[in-house]
Amino acid sequence: MDFDFPEDIVIARQKASDFAKKEIKPEDARVYDKQEKFPDDLRKKAFELGIVDYTNPWSMLVTIEELCRADAGMGIAATVSLFGAEVIMLFGSDEQKQKYLGSVQTGKKIMGLAVTESGGGSDVAGIKTTAKREGDKFIVNGSKMFITNGSIADFFVMLVRTSSPDGKRHHGLSTIVVEADLPGFTKNKLSGKLGVRATNTAELILSNVEVPAGNLIGEEGKGFYYIMTFFNISRAYVAAQAIGIAQGALDRILSHLGNLAKSGRSEEITEEIQFLVADIATRVEASRLLTYKAASFLFQFKPNPTLTSMAKAYASETAVFATEKALEITGVSGITGDLERFFRDAKIMEIWEGTSEIEKLIISRNLLKEASEGN
Ligand SMILES: Cc1cc2nc3c(=O)[nH]c(=O)nc-3n(C[C@H](O)[C@H](O)[C@H](O)COP(=O)(O)OP(=O)(O)OC[C@H]3O[C@@H](n4cnc5c(N)ncnc54)[C@H](O)[C@@H]3O)c2cc1C
Repeated sequence: MDFDFPEDIVIARQKASDFAKKEIKPEDARVYDKQEKFPDDLRKKAFELGIVDYTNPWSMLVTIEELCRADAGMGIAATVSLFGAEVIMLFGSDEQKQKYLGSVQTGKKIMGLAVTESGGGSDVAGIKTTAKREGDKFIVNGSKMFITNGSIADFFVMLVRTSSPDGKRHHGLSTIVVEADLPGFTKNKLSGKLGVRATNTAELILSNVEVPAGNLIGEEGKGFYYIMTFFNISRAYVAAQAIGIAQGALDRILSHLGNLAKSGRSEEITEEIQFLVADIATRVEASRLLTYKAASFLFQFKPNPTLTSMAKAYASETAVFATEKALEITGVSGITGDLERFFRDAKIMEIWEGTSEIEKLIISRNLLKEASEGN
């Protein structure tokens, strides 16, 4: 057991922290949030400088943490342009990997993962978008909702129904790569979302979109399994986003309290506030340990979905707790400053890639299954 990161990851964290201090200024974060503007220059710079390095998952994890500590909207926008790549990496053909992954790994292209539909995101098996095989093509019809990078991505990994369920609702689903510029494919950018407003989110509408049959990822009918495998990876990165937000809130609380002490107002740092600071700091540290443990299993190709869901749910709830308490501690300065944005961003962590309720169902189902099998 060793709690120290190897030197290359310590360096990656420091590089990301320095980059965030220089490139994610609070005044810019306010503008990108208010205008719901995607920071593409920041994203490109992060790739050019090697801050975003998808060849090293630990480096990605600590980088996401440090960028979200500065600002979640900009931090996520700069690191999420490969969202869904693991589905191609794990299940795609060599040809698909060559065609699609190279350009996103260098930051030249942007991709997205399109699963959720307007009928509800938690019920993945209930998706209605269809892909009917006609000769050497799939004809895709339907729509997707709340898709990150939706109106800026070059292509999407999309979950579609390729055949009727044979009694089991999650059967008959497949994943295909759908390129964004195909005729019949419309994207409507969504605005007015609560948090992470610098990220791009869109509705996708597909009307008789012809996709080459060669774009099917892996085996037909295995899509549900591929997406669940993907979520067990991506949830570790969402936990890192949440830790970044919670740590960012703690930084701002400590800076506020430090300023009070410096200006001779220490008596305002009541015992209640001290207890809150201790509680937030402890939860942030506990979130980190849980996330790093889940990531350690994951990055050694021994994923532990129970741990990953625990990390995602706990870190998200810690982000919400830390940002809410930060507003209470800092009062007017927090509500009118950056902490109100942190508070809005934190709530998204409890929703995307599995709501906290869904994570808790996964945790308890896995534990109960083990118990019923006598483990
Ligand atoms: C900013 C943003 C970006 C997103 N990006 C993407 C993306 O790139 N790709 C993508 O595919 N999706 C994306 N999503 C969608 C996201 O994954 C869904 O919002 C999420 O899965 C929840 O689905 P829903 O919002 O439809 O809520 P619902 O599934 O309708 O759930 C509503 C409520 O009911 C609860 N609930 C649902 N089912 C159960 C159950 N069985 N037991 C107990 N409680 C339950 C939920 O916990 C929640 O509280 C994004 C969402 C947001 C907000």
